[in-house]
Amino acid sequence: MTEMSYPALRAHHRCVEALVADPEVTGDLLLVGMWLARAIHLHLPKPAVNDGTSTWQLPDIARDLFPLNMDRGLAFNGQMVEAPSAEPDWRRVFEVLKNDIRRYDPKVDQQLPAWARPRCSGPMVRRASCGKGSYTWGYLTDVETGRKRLVGACRKHHDWFQQERKVNAAVVAATEAPPPPANAGGRLARHFLDIDWPALWVKLDESWTAPPEQMGSARPKLRVVLGDTGSSFSVQRTSSTAARPRFALINGTLS
Ligand SMILES: [Zn+2]
Repeated sequence: MTEMSYPALRAHHRCVEALVADPEVTGDLLLVGMWLARAIHLHLPKPAVNDGTSTWQLPDIARDLFPLNMDRGLAFNGQMVEAPSAEPDWRRVFEVLKNDIRRYDPKVDQQLPAWARPRCSGPMVRRASCGKGSYTWGYLTDVETGRKRLVGACRKHHDWFQQERKVNAAVVAATEAPPPPANAGGRLARHFLDIDWPALWVKLDESWTAPPEQMGSARPKLRVVLGDTGSSFSVQRTSSTAARPRFALINGTLS
C-alpha cells in the first residue's frame, strides 16, 4: 500500500465529498470520478511511472469498476448466452468519458423535457403562433449565436416549416455562425482541474474543438491522452513544476 500523507488524505476526502455533492455527477461518471480521486490523491492503484509521468491505463479503471464484461457467445446447445469475458469492460469507461466531453448540446438548450415535442410554431393571423401538436420538427440555427432552436410544425404548417428550414440552411451556408457556447459535459473536469481534458476529448472525438466559454482560467496541470498499445487508458503525471499538465489519462489500442 502506498504511503498516505495527511494532506493527501485530506485532498482526497475533499475531492470525493465534492463529487458526491455534485448533482450532475452520478452513476458511472461518479464511479470514474471516485477512481480518479483515489488514483490522483492517494496513488491507489500505484501509477506506472513513465518518464516522470505517472500513468494509469484505461483497463486499470475498467478492471476496478467494471471487471465483468458480459459477452454474448454461442453455448454448446447452439443458443446465444451471455458470459463474462476475459477482459474488463473498458468500453464502458470510454463511453463515460466520451459522454462527458465539454460541448454544445442542442437538446440541453431547449428547456423542454427530453421526451417532449415542441408545439407548432407556424404563424397565425390573430396570435403569435399556432401551438398545435407537432407532426414534424427539427432544429433551426440562430446565425447570431450559433445556438439551435427546436421548431415544430403541425400538418397544416408543414410547408411553412419546410420553407423555414430551407431559408435557415441558406442563411447558415452564407453566414459564418459563431460556435455556440458549451452547455453540456465537462462535469469531471470541474473536479479535476489539473487534468488537461481538451487533450483527452480531442482523442475521444477527433472532430472536437474547444467550444466558447471554456472552463476556468487556470491552466491545466493534468492531461488525458490516448496511447496506441494495449486496450487501455491511463492517467499520466508529469513533473509538478513549470511543466504542465501534471496528469494525463491515456488509452492504448482498443483492440
Ligand atoms: Zn400549426
